[in-house]
Amino acid sequence: MSNLAAATEAPGSLDPASLAIAHALAPNTLSLILLPTEKCNLRCSYCYETFEHGRMSDETIQAVKNLIDLRLPKLDYLTLGWFGGEPLVASDILLDIAGYALRRCREEGVQYFGGEITTNAALLTSDLLEKLVAVEQKKFQISLDGWREGHDRTRRNGAGAGTFDTVWNVLKMLRESPYPDLDVILRIHLMPENRDSIRELARNIKAEFGADPRFGIYLKAIENLGGPQSGAITSLEHAERGAIVTEMAGLLSGMRGLPDAKPASDKAPKVCYAAKPNNLIVRANGRIAKCTVAFEDAKNDIGQLRLDGTLQIDNAKLVHWFRGLHSRDFGILACPVWIRPYEANSAKRVIPIAAEVA
Ligand code: SF4
Repeated sequence: MSNLAAATEAPGSLDPASLAIAHALAPNTLSLILLPTEKCNLRCSYCYETFEHGRMSDETIQAVKNLIDLRLPKLDYLTLGWFGGEPLVASDILLDIAGYALRRCREEGVQYFGGEITTNAALLTSDLLEKLVAVEQKKFQISLDGWREGHDRTRRNGAGAGTFDTVWNVLKMLRESPYPDLDVILRIHLMPENRDSIRELARNIKAEFGADPRFGIYLKAIENLGGPQSGAITSLEHAERGAIVTEMAGLLSGMRGLPDAKPASDKAPKVCYAAKPNNLIVRANGRIAKCTVAFEDAKNDIGQLRLDGTLQIDNAKLVHWFRGLHSRDFGILACPVWIRPYEANSAKRVIPIAAEVA
């Protein structure tokens, strides 16, 4: 199916900010972020997840298919995002739902269908890749914490062993694969402890994958997002981040996704999927959420997917996630989970996070 960016290009008359809001509100678009399991095969040292829920039940899988059926007649664009836990731990569920959605999109003449998998890649084999490509799941976001020992220090499997060599071999397998429209985003985590290691990683990425346009880069500073391991997590100071990002961009120059020097007025402002009415998260237990980070926050538990594909939604909680659209505040739209100090007078429109209620 066609490329989403090209397919959704809007009339040139809108400025970037209005265009970003138009996309967030487009009724012919639906993005579902699905958690086929909330279990993971790794135990990363900074992970904020509690791994409380296991595999999606057969009933929830059917409910997701029914939700897709209900929405399809009005859709031109359907995207699936796969998240966890580690979604490839439950790759059978992923293939089942994506295969169903692809068939139904073809039957209904939907213009675009595709998917993105956020994965640690340890379970991605060439056989599985072939099956994923066959159901239009061709975009991967794969995290790396450094070069070999740097990665293995934080990203270990359940037995405590490092995973770098496995993941690096998967990346080479992706490079050698025959699929021209793969999109592999290498998400490089920036932390105080891995400055030297990510430089080495960047040099090796450039040498191995820099000439393949299917590979892109996403530089991401690790934040302390709570969870059971929050006491052991350190984040880079804001001033340090800029210097490291600039240095990494130099080492990786020419690759997709690096920060560029365009003036802010020419860039589309970020609108997080959590702020978009046409984006929903379905957790493994069928609960509906908006944000993939604050799973333990009560205001992120906004409702339930029913078996018939309809949604029971707590509208009072929804107001929190959509308030940035109401005020056209791009600070809030970029990350609606937090309540800004200047929103203090908007208490009626904002649901406090649990810690603030207590
Ligand atoms: S609301 Fe903020 S924390 Fe949640 S997914 Fe969006 S950007 Fe991330």
